[in-house]
Amino acid sequence: MDHFSYRDGLLYCESVPLDEIASLFGTPCYVYSRAAIVQRWNAFERSFSSHEHLLCYAVKANSNLAILNILARLGSGFDIVSVGELERVLVAGGDPQKVVFSGVGKRIDEMRRALEVGIFCFNVESLAELERLDKVAGGMGCRAPVALRVNPDVDAGTHPYIATGLKESKFGISLDEAEGIYLRHTQFPHICFLGLDCHIGSQLTTLAPLTDALDRMLTLYDRLQANGLSLTHLDMGGGLGIRYQHEDPPTPDGYAAAFLQALGDRPLRLIIEPGRAIVGESGVLLTQVEYLKVTPNKSFAVVDAAMNDLIRPALYDAWHNVEPVVSRTDLPATSYDIVGPVCESGDFLASGRDLALIAGDLLAVFAAGAYGFSMSSNYNTRPRAAEILVDKTAIHCVRKRETVADLYAGEVILPYN
Ligand SMILES: *Cc1c(COP(=O)(O)O)cnc(C)c1O
Repeated sequence: MDHFSYRDGLLYCESVPLDEIASLFGTPCYVYSRAAIVQRWNAFERSFSSHEHLLCYAVKANSNLAILNILARLGSGFDIVSVGELERVLVAGGDPQKVVFSGVGKRIDEMRRALEVGIFCFNVESLAELERLDKVAGGMGCRAPVALRVNPDVDAGTHPYIATGLKESKFGISLDEAEGIYLRHTQFPHICFLGLDCHIGSQLTTLAPLTDALDRMLTLYDRLQANGLSLTHLDMGGGLGIRYQHEDPPTPDGYAAAFLQALGDRPLRLIIEPGRAIVGESGVLLTQVEYLKVTPNKSFAVVDAAMNDLIRPALYDAWHNVEPVVSRTDLPATSYDIVGPVCESGDFLASGRDLALIAGDLLAVFAAGAYGFSMSSNYNTRPRAAEILVDKTAIHCVRKRETVADLYAGEVILPYN
């Protein structure tokens, strides 16, 4: 079922027309569909149901408390990359025993807090981090649960900024080095080695890099097993892509089947960390046209959302579908670049889109639920957008729009001349 659809030329999220949300809360704002999120999470859960597994939603894709709470109620685990994300998960009712902690730069205070609340596993990305964690756990009189994040050296075939599994990348530990560390496990008295982890990149649209990585991980698992080290889980990270334009990513069923087949009868609990694939298509960015600016070379629709609200086009050259909230039949379409008010030429949401527009029209930027709000900033002293969650006919403001005063609340002026 499509949770964003037109009825009589008007765009709805579930049973709510988007122009109503714009008039209640203003623009720009993000609008999410609860049913879409639940449907995607359930699809993953069903696909892996024949094997022991844990879904750990990658919080960085969209960390709004309401969304984390919806997922926590479904029984989801969480993949975090900072203590800030850990606190969000706890406040949203997430179970710390279903939390995995990834990231190359974990600070001592972050390790302590994660040990204190009893997370399920640290995904450790370097020997230096492992040594630090061993000390921190020792100081607290406990053992830290660990999976080494292995860098399987596969090309994920995605944008270079979101490919993380090549040997040149800052992420993870090489297969050889990881094997050496696992075999020296007795040298780390306050570490409990539970599993193996990898994450090769994001927006993957084919299975081959994932199954390549999986084969390499299973080879390592089998070698460790033969050397007497029994690990109990395999975390294959996130990364399943979504459809922004013409991509045709694997379904959760196809994705799960490839993994489960390769696993065979190894007694390994499978963990996956989907982010984008859960929330990406569950949200739109709603924006209003301020001006139409027609020049001899180009026509621009200047809108009230900008790169600070949605940085993906500027950062990754990402393509997002942009459609009017009310479709017009009274005007011919013109090719527009959709740009924001920020003082950067990179401030665009889309280019060369055929649209029939007048100033004041509302536009929806599709597939903006992941890495949209969570990557937004206050550049140009622009308050971050409101976030609205639709549940059937109900409209919930789950994050109010920031005010300008919020933005400088922590700043001070020198107290003398
Ligand atoms: C970003 C990230 C994810 C989620 O990636 P998606 O492409 O959103 O599924 C999962 N695991 C780790 C370690 C990550 O850094």
